[in-house]
Amino acid sequence: MSRASLTRTGSPAYQGYLRSQQWGFRRVRWFRDRRAEGFEPACQVCDRTLTDLGSLDLHHTSYEGVGWDEDTQKWWAEEADEELMPMCRDHHGRLHDRLDRRGDFYGWSRHRASIVIAAQMRREYFTHHPVTPRDDEDNARNDEQRGGAADE
Ligand SMILES: [Zn+2]
Ligand SMILES: [Zn+2]
Repeated sequence: MSRASLTRTGSPAYQGYLRSQQWGFRRVRWFRDRRAEGFEPACQVCDRTLTDLGSLDLHHTSYEGVGWDEDTQKWWAEEADEELMPMCRDHHGRLHDRLDRRGDFYGWSRHRASIVIAAQMRREYFTHHPVTPRDDEDNARNDEQRGGAADE
């Protein structure tokens, strides 16, 4: 099997991968596995969950697990779980604004830049949206309700 790795965001090959059935299946499996572990996927910046939003994007912090198999003419999608970062559509777009421009993170590995930028954005987000005691109460109540629903 010959394997060509993909490193460039926005290349035609990468766009093809994101439309492929292999990525579709890998994506579904990522979410299913997190839920099987009892973990509700949430945006790494704002903590809004899959349940809150109805859908989440998965950002690739690396494409090391992705390639094209010449023999079968199919993609292989073997991203490690931790190479996929759940994000709401809004924050995913903003992360790319910082990641893809030739700015502060130019020359960094995609993995390291993604993690640092997401952490930066998270700090900024919670500076502007402080969690109030009232929110905490609501969250606690929601957690109880979710716990109940899960037993049904
Ligand atoms: Zn978000
Ligand atoms: Zn992305």
